[in-house]
Amino acid sequence: MYRAPLRDMQFVLHELLGDDRLSAYYADVDYAGELADSILEEAAKFGENVLEPLNRPGDVEGARWTPEGVQVPKGLKEAYASYIEGGWTQMSVPGDLGGQGMPHTVNNAVEEIMFASNMAFYLGTSLARGAVEAIAGSGSGDAVQPFVEKLVSGEWMGTMNLTEAQAGSDLALLRSRAVADGDRYRIFGQKIFITYGDHDMTDNIVHLVLARIDGAPAGTRGISMFLVPKYLLKDDGSQGEMNDVRCISIEHKMGLHASPTCVMAFGEKDGAVGYLMGEPNTGLQHMFVMMNAARLSVGVQGLAQSERAYQQALDWARNRVQGKPVGVKDGASVAIVNHPDVKRMLLSMRSRIEAMRALAYTAALSLDAAHREAEPAAREAALFRAELLTPIVKGWCTETAIEVTSMGIQVHGGMGFVEETGAAQFLRDVRVAAIYEGTTGIQSNDLIGRKLGRDKGAAMNALIDELLADLGADEAQASTREALELLRAATASVLRQSAESMAAAQAVSVPYLELCGTVLAGAMLAKGAAIAARALAAGTAETDFYEGKLRTARFYADQVLPRAHGLVRIVQAGAVSVTETDPAQL
Ligand SMILES: Cc1cc2nc3c(=O)[nH]c(=O)nc-3n(C[C@H](O)[C@H](O)[C@H](O)COP(=O)(O)OP(=O)(O)OC[C@H]3O[C@@H](n4cnc5c(N)ncnc54)[C@H](O)[C@@H]3O)c2cc1C
Repeated sequence: MYRAPLRDMQFVLHELLGDDRLSAYYADVDYAGELADSILEEAAKFGENVLEPLNRPGDVEGARWTPEGVQVPKGLKEAYASYIEGGWTQMSVPGDLGGQGMPHTVNNAVEEIMFASNMAFYLGTSLARGAVEAIAGSGSGDAVQPFVEKLVSGEWMGTMNLTEAQAGSDLALLRSRAVADGDRYRIFGQKIFITYGDHDMTDNIVHLVLARIDGAPAGTRGISMFLVPKYLLKDDGSQGEMNDVRCISIEHKMGLHASPTCVMAFGEKDGAVGYLMGEPNTGLQHMFVMMNAARLSVGVQGLAQSERAYQQALDWARNRVQGKPVGVKDGASVAIVNHPDVKRMLLSMRSRIEAMRALAYTAALSLDAAHREAEPAAREAALFRAELLTPIVKGWCTETAIEVTSMGIQVHGGMGFVEETGAAQFLRDVRVAAIYEGTTGIQSNDLIGRKLGRDKGAAMNALIDELLADLGADEAQASTREALELLRAATASVLRQSAESMAAAQAVSVPYLELCGTVLAGAMLAKGAAIAARALAAGTAETDFYEGKLRTARFYADQVLPRAHGLVRIVQAGAVSVTETDPAQL
């Protein structure tokens, strides 16, 4: 059973990040901390009561391909209808695009609840906001407006169609074709791995598809983005005939069984009708709007599944009786939660979850700042920070989630390996989060190449300075300050290596990304501990809660943060063993 950790979420939103900035940014929607609280309470009710009960049955039943179309497991269609009725899609869409325009930070917290309750369900649903923003960003005209309205209302769902069999991480290899046909295009090609490419949850599906207009340049500079609906619209806006697009099969996967992952055939007959979004050959730039939104969401999936795994592991550890307390020979066996190693595992899970939450919500706040700060320079600095943090949230939260959900299985012992407990599903479902929307390797290369390279580490150093200032000279935070300085030194080292040999830098880019996540999120956790210490000193009534914050932060500083020393060594001196190995020698 999942219970949304509302108090922990509120702590990050209200105390760690602070309500003042969001209230100032979103005065137009009367944003206040209480509004966020009531949204989260409603999201918790929806997640816990509607989505969570469908999580395990959906995993067992799975999505089904039929010649008439893909069917999702029982209950998902009805759950989606209640989701729409609750107005959840509009909530996340900006006000000028027809939504309610709530802050990204609040949306991020809602996403945590939805993904924790049912990742396979929310995966497709969560794509709408990015799709709407990508379409709006492309500046496309009236022809696509009806599709945008239905995406915002949630009546129709959206997809992103990038991947092809020969073009995964490398979209330059993309082959799908677009041929001009009056004021539209005809699309031909096959896409693979398309999340919710077909399903029976909505009457129509709005595909955003990358394809090459005939005669376009090779590589990524020749890619355009098209809106391709499953059903075309008649002149009066009602649903017309089916477009020439079909799901020809779905994948049998390790996890996310309820989420259909589709092979899509475009143009088996005359070509699927597609509307060009933006100028020809600018497709990747527009699709990146959707991809960046999705990358942060995928990081939140890591956080969410980790929280889910932790709650279940804790419950198991409190109830499973096995072994005597250390040093006690006689007497009754005790619940395993009393054993030091089980406590270590649970603290390790919990402290890293709190660190992930702090990091992911901070990235979302940077996005809010990037849209809403008054001064252009402040907006640009916030955007750089959001863009810097995106690959770290995506890469670190998902890789950490793999460790945390695996640890959840370990806490269960043999029963963790048995599907009946459900512990394995969290790991099976979250495993792909480190792969889709760009693998960890791709995220880390983006981090060291584009994100550090463009400003020579200025955004990273500004963030380090800010965190150091937040921590102050407090003796309890000495190890965190040291770790931040190690990160600064490692950043300089990566920049040097990139200038001399990008191959050397890429040989250590994943350890560098892990270092960034470990240290930045750890510093945010330490900042939270300082806030908790102040609350306790001021005589708060929530003693257990704030003491808990001190405990997790101390565990993190003792048993997680020291990894930074090893990682810095790898970043500074670990490349040669990779670069000097010939692929033939592997
Ligand atoms: C369940 C699921 C859902 C998905 N949903 C969608 C979707 O909705 N829409 C969509 O378009 N796609 C989707 N995908 C596809 C997904 O985005 C790709 O699988 C992912 O981008 C990786 O591409 P690939 O599988 O071709 O792996 P490859 O690109 O072949 O990568 C294999 C390995 O090589 C590494 N690698 C590749 N190139 C480099 C490089 N230049 N430098 C360093 N390392 C490199 C990778 O990191 C990885 O470890 C989905 C995939 C899955 C499994």
